[in-house]
Amino acid sequence: MLILVRRIGLFLGLVSLAAMPVSAAGLMELLDSMKPVREQRLVPQLPPVPRIPGRGKNWSGDRMPTEGVPILVLAGHADSQRMDGSGTPGKAVGVGGASPMQRGITDELYWNLLTAKAVVAEGTRQGLEITFYDPGVRTIRNAQDPRTNWSVGYDHASKGGYAVEIHYDAYAPYGIGPGVIPAVAFGFSVMDEALAKEFGAYPYDYRGILGAPRRGISMLEIGLLDGALERKLRDPSQRDLTLNQIAKRVVFALRQGLEQGPSLKAICATSASINAVCR
Ligand SMILES: [Zn+2]
Repeated sequence: MLILVRRIGLFLGLVSLAAMPVSAAGLMELLDSMKPVREQRLVPQLPPVPRIPGRGKNWSGDRMPTEGVPILVLAGHADSQRMDGSGTPGKAVGVGGASPMQRGITDELYWNLLTAKAVVAEGTRQGLEITFYDPGVRTIRNAQDPRTNWSVGYDHASKGGYAVEIHYDAYAPYGIGPGVIPAVAFGFSVMDEALAKEFGAYPYDYRGILGAPRRGISMLEIGLLDGALERKLRDPSQRDLTLNQIAKRVVFALRQGLEQGPSLKAICATSASINAVCR
């Protein structure tokens, strides 16, 4: 009986809704739109780390970033100065005794910041939805602090967005070279596949899966901070051109990823090195 009463109630409710004047229906819609939007969050999942460390590109990226979530660009080591993991001083400073580009930060961070900004400027020019995040504070010891690259990048990636952190590698013989270290936490991205094609690729389990990839943030190593690359960056007459050329390569790859989607495949050489050269 109770069920029947409820059904009649529901029926009457539906009738009254249908008979509602337009303005009241509009009000319902308005109230509906005021409900907090429940954002879809992905659950991080890490694949096992192989017993023998991987070499070259031992992953395949086919996940597309969520539509409407801009690409997020970060500068590596932006919140870890004057502590472990502050980045490479570069060969000019580390070996040559040159003054750092800016007091208090490593040359790597100096170039990471300029490169990340150049990538966002070029990407915006080419019509990409792309933003840069800088924690501003240069030493944040607690990785859980909501202002860190890791926290902001994780938040972004868990919404299905693509987040990439710019790096330069240590000078020879310490560095490995250019390539993307793919984000791991939420599956491999087609964007990393595209960056691999342009810059080369590291194994996903590089150094037992690094902190950023564990949080869904990709890392892009532009190259060793030595030799001609470092010279051109340090030369004021070549700096802007060099940064622009790098930015154009990154943006080209990101656009390829978005435009070609999962059909894009990087073909990589097997080599004795940890990073693979791809085309
Ligand atoms: Zn770095």
